[in-house]
Amino acid sequence: MTLHGHRYAVRAPFTSVRGSSPPGGGLALRREVLDSVLVDAALAAGRVEWHPGWALTGLVQDGAGKVYGASLRDRQGATRTILARVTIGADGIRSMVAQSLGVRERIDWLDKLALTTRMRGPKDTGFSQVHLMERGYFAASFVDDGLLSVNLVVDRGALREGRLSAQSFFETSVRACPSMRTVLAGATQVERLRGVGPLAFRTSRQVFDGAALVGDAGGYIDPLTGEGIYFALVGAKLLANHLGELGLRPTYSSADLQAYVRDLGLEIRGRSRCSLTLQQGLRSPKLARLIMAFLAARPRVAELLVALSGDYVRPRDLAHAGLWIGALRA
Ligand SMILES: Cc1cc2nc3c(=O)[nH]c(=O)nc-3n(C[C@H](O)[C@H](O)[C@H](O)COP(=O)(O)OP(=O)(O)OC[C@H]3O[C@@H](n4cnc5c(N)ncnc54)[C@H](O)[C@@H]3O)c2cc1C
Repeated sequence: MTLHGHRYAVRAPFTSVRGSSPPGGGLALRREVLDSVLVDAALAAGRVEWHPGWALTGLVQDGAGKVYGASLRDRQGATRTILARVTIGADGIRSMVAQSLGVRERIDWLDKLALTTRMRGPKDTGFSQVHLMERGYFAASFVDDGLLSVNLVVDRGALREGRLSAQSFFETSVRACPSMRTVLAGATQVERLRGVGPLAFRTSRQVFDGAALVGDAGGYIDPLTGEGIYFALVGAKLLANHLGELGLRPTYSSADLQAYVRDLGLEIRGRSRCSLTLQQGLRSPKLARLIMAFLAARPRVAELLVALSGDYVRPRDLAHAGLWIGALRA
């Protein structure tokens, strides 16, 4: 990871922290590639049916709110209902499942959106990049097929006030950010800009009688620390393990599923708090400048933070005074 902003540049590779290092470094790839790898792996594991092209349109619930399955519709308008012992909402940041269950809440102070595209041309440095700027940042990663994936994440107000089209706003922002401008000099934008937002949601509950939420559907903060895929995968794994331990039952109550919430909290709560604290700090330009100056002077501290955001060390692994003293002295 390289971090740029306020005239500073910090370069923090994935390094070993208390014996943990990411096997083979980090991996960045296009989302459609990751999705097809995951679907193929699920199908290869057997006992999985895959119905592409069917959209969830609602939940099947009784009068008490217990979930019995989902209603689906395909592109031609055909409808079907699938009944299930447990229905898992893994439908992302705009989760209809969370919405239908009435547990989705916006985090107003994090009112951001992302404009995202891919570029051809810049030489792969092996480093993902974050470029801080006023009211937002660029996050860019070299992915497969020689492409640089570029995301501009900004306060929604900044786009509204600019009164520009999304594409003009994006180009103006690149010009206004010297480090990003340098990276993209001579690059060709190969995809239409896509917008995602608002980005920040939480849910008041993640398990219900007959249903559970996984991944962004259960809450999402911001792509700054690049942990959403990890949170979604680890959540899916914890829920699958927990259902396996419960064994086949006619139904699953929210009490049955509570251990998933506990284990997920243990795994991601500390990380989410660190990410929120970092984002709160970066909202103040003064504090952001101080953070950048500090990290530029203490790159080993930056490496510890990058190890945390790379999800190969846990917050509790970093709770050792000696580690920080060593990093401050390095
Ligand atoms: C700009 C940006 C950059 C990011 N960069 C990173 C990064 O570098 N690293 C990282 O780890 N995370 C990153 N994230 C976060 C990451 O993308 C998400 O946290 C992650 O994709 C969550 O996975 P998910 O499976 O929960 O949801 P999604 O990936 O959103 O998957 C939900 C799926 O449900 C489908 N769906 C939704 N509604 C319906 C419906 N009604 N019927 C049927 N299907 C439906 C969608 O089509 C989609 O396939 C980024 C996010 C943004 C916005």
